[in-house]
Amino acid sequence: MEYSHRYHAYPTQEVAEGLEHHLNVHRQLYNHVRWDYTNSPEDDKPSEYDQNNKLPEWKRTWPVFAETHSKAAQATVARFHHNLTVLSELKEKGYNVGRLKRQAPTDYRSVTYNQSGFDLDEKRGHDKDAYVWFSKIGWMKIRYSRPIPDHASIKEATFKKETTGEWFITFSLETEDEHVPEKPAVESLTASNSVGIDLGILNYVHTSDGKTVDWIDLDDEYDRLRHEQRKLSRKEHGSNNYEKQRQEVAKARRHIRRKVLDYQHKITTWLVKTYDAVFVEDLNVKEMLEQSHNARNKQDAAWRQFITLLEYKAALYGTHVVQVEARGTTKECASCGVETAKPIWVREHSCPSCGFETDRDANAAMNVLQRGFAERGLGWPESTPVETVAATDTDRFESVSASHVIETGSLPS
Ligand SMILES: [Zn+2]
Repeated sequence: MEYSHRYHAYPTQEVAEGLEHHLNVHRQLYNHVRWDYTNSPEDDKPSEYDQNNKLPEWKRTWPVFAETHSKAAQATVARFHHNLTVLSELKEKGYNVGRLKRQAPTDYRSVTYNQSGFDLDEKRGHDKDAYVWFSKIGWMKIRYSRPIPDHASIKEATFKKETTGEWFITFSLETEDEHVPEKPAVESLTASNSVGIDLGILNYVHTSDGKTVDWIDLDDEYDRLRHEQRKLSRKEHGSNNYEKQRQEVAKARRHIRRKVLDYQHKITTWLVKTYDAVFVEDLNVKEMLEQSHNARNKQDAAWRQFITLLEYKAALYGTHVVQVEARGTTKECASCGVETAKPIWVREHSCPSCGFETDRDANAAMNVLQRGFAERGLGWPESTPVETVAATDTDRFESVSASHVIETGSLPS
């Protein structure tokens, strides 16, 4: 099976500059691949293979592209074609998607090396720490929180710069047998490889590291359901037509359920592949006085399904999933712990005691993370997410679109 391990990386300033430079060159290459594809005639679009064959010529014409490692350049071409496939799959499923955009520096955050151009030394130098090497960039120390198992081989290595400015390395691993990966040691969990999530009302998921995942748009599906239900109400009860129409209503319901399940599969896969530990609120005691009874029951069922899926995936990928006490996660300040009542319409958390300000759901997600750590006897996360969020004041919340989740569900980028 295939899975991945993600590590916090600590490059020196010189190496970080190299990473930045290569990130930028690969972004330009990606945009060039896109340009070449877009400007090819409709009936003669280049395949991934065609564009790989153009790489040597591009490297001669634009020497900056010659700075890339050949396997990494091919991985960038592959990323574009993978995105094309994802896009057309989404279109087929009825999502309203546009075209692939040019990548701005803020969008393009990672570079992947396929099979070569990277190395891992588990005990390097005087300090015997783990280091990762990238071709033409150099060695950097990583927090080797989770050893790579002997039976696994490294297929790809990806370096990524998060919006917080932190660097991460992800190894895509493959095992020949159906080995289930072991969960990382509890002591290795940190604020950067763990996440607290708030199952929100406005956003489906809000993470403690500032990501929001929007809920899918089901307006059309619900319109159709109401339409079929109205038709049913006009049929004579017990007639053949009534029976037929009853099946149409059931079909419309089934369609919604499937779309929700499909989406939950994607979000949960993304979570267990990205993090070593995922903390969620224990729904049995979740306070939901804020919602009407009916809305609450509906949401309850969807969340229960979500957590069941999350636990199932966690076992497959070797990720911790822990449910934590949910009482007061919204009221409590993630920075100082003082409780302040907050009506539903107040979307900001602004602490009267310590002055900490953030989004309401982000504050709840940070509390979930901290409770998870306390419950595991780990104390406070070494760098609290509170600091991370405060450090990036503008554009604090990266909105993760449905298509991004679907992409990352299969690609470590
Ligand atoms: Zn406070």
